[in-house]
This record gives sequence, structure tokens and C-alpha cells, in this order.
Amino acid sequence: MKFTVLTLFPEHVQAGLGASVIGKALERGILELSCINIRDFAGNKHNQVDDYPYGGGAGMVMQPGPILRAYESIQPRPKRVVYLTPQGKTFDQEMAFSLAREESLVFLCGHYEGVDERIIDRIVTDEVSIGDYILTGGEMAAMVMIDAIGRLVDGVLSNSSSYENESFHQGLLEYPQYTRPAAFEGQEVPEVLLSGHHGNIDRWRREQALVRTLRKRPDLLEKAELTEKDREFIRN
Ligand code: SAM
Repeated sequence: MKFTVLTLFPEHVQAGLGASVIGKALERGILELSCINIRDFAGNKHNQVDDYPYGGGAGMVMQPGPILRAYESIQPRPKRVVYLTPQGKTFDQEMAFSLAREESLVFLCGHYEGVDERIIDRIVTDEVSIGDYILTGGEMAAMVMIDAIGRLVDGVLSNSSSYENESFHQGLLEYPQYTRPAAFEGQEVPEVLLSGHHGNIDRWRREQALVRTLRKRPDLLEKAELTEKDREFIRN
């Protein structure tokens, strides 16, 4: 899968995604990342890409010309262009799964007061927010999305079940995890996990996922994929 990021800070994005699981997937060529510096398409001798807002007001606005030229340098022309904006649809795991089916994605990172509205009308297919707060720029939001989407691409994680049991899969939070030692300063690992009985372990994990979701994120249960056994467990 190829990610292209239109940004004023390409080094920031390259460095942010160069480590750990995504960094390894980039090294192995399972994922591809290309960062295009919008400033390279400024088209003026001061490399200026922003200007004062028409109508007055604080801050600067990114001009449409450099962004359009940067976008037009992408070949072949992309199908999906995501503009990171606090005004967009809130990013979640369902959106990550859906976007992970694309072959390529372009992310447009705004700065200052954002981008000229005409560029949104012209090239953007999806406006996405990573939450109800204001960042200084879209780079970190793009990195959050690329990390979450990238790890769902086949071959990026060593084992796809790593994400199949994770929080938000089937609408539930994940069960608690433990590793060695079995006893840590008086705290014991639940006995069922040491039993080797896979049926009992699976049932315990499912119940723990239900309990946690009920306690921490009851809102998720409304849309969760529950069996009749799950519902009976919750009722009791
Ligand atoms: N003036 C804009 C507004 O009120 O909607 C906010 C501009 S913000 C300071 C600058 C840039 O940061 C935005 O163009 C966007 O690319 C990015 N950004 C800020 N908050 C974000 C969020 N919650 N999710 C995604 N991108 C965000």
C-alpha cells in the first residue's frame, strides 16, 4: 500500500513513521511512503505558500496553487485524498479497516488556519479528524492514520490474529493481557490462563472483554457483535 503525504514538514513525517512496526514494513517494501513538500511547488522566489485570509482575521491560510501543483505531481492520480481537519469525520478503527482496502492514499496536511476552501472542493475526497481538539498541523494526524491503517495491511503484523482480538474488533475492548512471571510481587496471573485449556481460556477472555467494555466503554456495546451467550452473560 502506498501513502503519499502532502506536507510542509516532510522530514517530520518520515522520521515519525520510520521506527517500529511501520518502519520495518516500509523497509521491507510492504508499505510505501512518499512525502511531497508543498513548498517545492510555491512558484515564487520566497517559497511562500500562505497568505492573509480574505475578510480579515487572525492567522494565515495555505494558498491553493502550491497544493494543487504538489497534488498534480502525483502519478497516477490518486482515488482518495484525505484532508486532515478538526472539521472532518472522526477517525476510528472501522474507518481504518475500510481505508486499508485501498491501494494508495494521499494525505493533505494543513497548517496555520488551514487551507483555502477551494482546494478542498477541488481535490479532497475525505475530510478526517483524529479528535475534537486543535493541532498546529495535520502531520501528526496523518501519522496516526498511517500507523493505524498500515498495521492492517497484510504482512505488516506477523500474525493477523494480533489485530483480530484487539480492542474495537467486533465492537469490544480487548481482554486483559499477562506475561511472565506468573506471580509478581504477590499479584498472580489468573489461573485459567495457566491451565492450557483453550476452550476455557477463550471463554474467560470473551467474558473479560465484555466486562471491560461494559465498565469502560458501555457506548460500544450498542453496536457490538454479540452472541446470545454474550447477552446472557451481560444480563447476569
Ligand atoms: N482553523 C482551523 C479550524 O478551526 O477548523 C484549524 C486549523 S489547525 C490550527 C491547522 C491544521 O492542523 C489543520 O488545517 C489540519 O490539517 C490540522 N489539524 C488540527 N487539528 C486537527 C484534528 N483534530 N484532526 C486532524 N487534523 C487536524
